[in-house]
Parts: sequence; C-alpha cells; structure tokens
Amino acid sequence: MFRCNVCGSTEKKESFVDEMFRIDGKPVMVEHIPAAICVRCGEETFSRETTEKIRRMVHGEAKPIKSVSMDIFAYA
Ligand SMILES: [Zn+2]
Repeated sequence: MFRCNVCGSTEKKESFVDEMFRIDGKPVMVEHIPAAICVRCGEETFSRETTEKIRRMVHGEAKPIKSVSMDIFAYA
C-alpha cells in the first residue's frame, strides 16, 4: 500500500514525471518516469524496479535520446 514518506498520506495518483539526476557531478534528465505522486504534498515515489532501471540507464546502459545545453545561475 502507498504511504507518502514525507507527509504520511495514503492517497496517490499514478503519473509520469521528468526527473534530474546527478551522475559524477553531471546532471542528466530522465523523462517520462512512472511515479506515484502524493496528492497531498506532491512527493514523487518511484518503485524499486523503476529506480533500478533508471540507475542502469544513466550509468551507461542506455543512450540519451537528446542532449541540451543548460544555463546555470548562482543565486547570490
Ligand atoms: Zn505526501
């Protein structure tokens, strides 16, 4: 059963999200990840299988479908 590990709500919706990961200091984006999203606080939870698949993908098992340059600002 679903239980949000941030707010404890048991209500979720299934959706797809884009998520940024940092691999050896380099940001990578994975699009269209199936996630359970807490309806109360918006926390995204990935299943163990999903997490494992992402880990393998970003560590070289899959080729990126596209590459973008990113503008980074320092808040100062
Ligand atoms: Zn929550």
